[in-house]
Amino acid sequence: MPEQKKNYYEILGVGRNATQDEIKSAYRKLALKYHPDRNPGDDAAAEKFKEVNEAHTVLSDEEKRKQYDFELDHPGMSGGNPFSGGNPFSGGFGDFGDIFSSMFGGGFGGSARQAAPSRGANIEQTIRLSFLDAIKGCTKEISYFRNEPCKSCGGTGAKGGTSFEKCGRCGGSGRVKYQQDTIFGRTIQVGVCPDCNGTGKKIIDKCPDCKGKGYVRSQTRFTVNIPAGVDSDSSLRKRGYGQAAQGGGEPGDLYLYFQIEPHRLLKRQDRDLYVTVPISYRTAVLGGKIQVPGIDDTLELTVPAGTASGTRFCIRGKGVRTVNGTGNLYVDVQIDIPEKLSREQAKKLSDFEDSIPLKSCDNMQRYANNVSALYGRNIEKQ
Ligand SMILES: [Zn+2]
Ligand SMILES: [Zn+2]
Repeated sequence: MPEQKKNYYEILGVGRNATQDEIKSAYRKLALKYHPDRNPGDDAAAEKFKEVNEAHTVLSDEEKRKQYDFELDHPGMSGGNPFSGGNPFSGGFGDFGDIFSSMFGGGFGGSARQAAPSRGANIEQTIRLSFLDAIKGCTKEISYFRNEPCKSCGGTGAKGGTSFEKCGRCGGSGRVKYQQDTIFGRTIQVGVCPDCNGTGKKIIDKCPDCKGKGYVRSQTRFTVNIPAGVDSDSSLRKRGYGQAAQGGGEPGDLYLYFQIEPHRLLKRQDRDLYVTVPISYRTAVLGGKIQVPGIDDTLELTVPAGTASGTRFCIRGKGVRTVNGTGNLYVDVQIDIPEKLSREQAKKLSDFEDSIPLKSCDNMQRYANNVSALYGRNIEKQ
């Protein structure tokens, strides 16, 4: 089954006798034009970019190019695809990514950001909250170990925070230039100075408290106010409460996540609360007042006469209060069926049902009519 080969020469817009230089140059132009960074969200460009890569991977390799030329000249002749047994492109794309990012060192990749002193790592902590604490808000004591910026030297690692001189390698800028040769030619990249880790400073006398590291391992403790309405997908960020950075950079942040315990009765979805309340047959038939669980206390709900099991009531504004608004409390009532009746109770119920004619029961009457119309069979109360 000979498959139509893509014409890699057409894709790159070069002739069959193109030199490696011509191929390289054509590839570079097209790769820049269709690169995903320059065409965000453009599927057609992404497809082009992939094709251009494929074409380059094959044509830039003399062995692969020869096989490809043969295949192109003798379509369907080979007993097999010369590329069988492995995708020849699988390696190429990944390689390209690396080359590309170095190509754009300054412009796209954001290496200006990289050339700042590195930032400390973030810390994540999970706090267990009761269902109601999460809804009402609360204060919690937080305690954890971290690398805290050293107070004696202000995180610099130098004695008194002042005992340093200009870094010799980068001249105090914190950045050094790297030269790199790629298939596109020579590129210059700017990176963080490895000697001073981007600070531009060289320590003369180390701070005795942190031994030059700029941070000390210690327990951090504070009280956090947890606002009302947090949920298990909420998080709080406390800036600067993460790990200290090496060499005086900015510390990371602390992220607090919440694990919320379930409630005995209530369920929560965003701002709304849900509860299922059992009611008696009598209340369902005659109506009545029932107590339903609220956030602070029970709430009274009037169930109207003739309420079917499974009916949902909405108590507006009795859900979770958040900065974005307040939710509702939804109450589903469920008729509770007694499981054990005495012979006497059973007889009373039976007599009671017998005393109510079918025509007093709307749904059952409608059902009986439908069965009669469809099957010609008359049914009684059931
Ligand atoms: Zn330096
Ligand atoms: Zn110190």
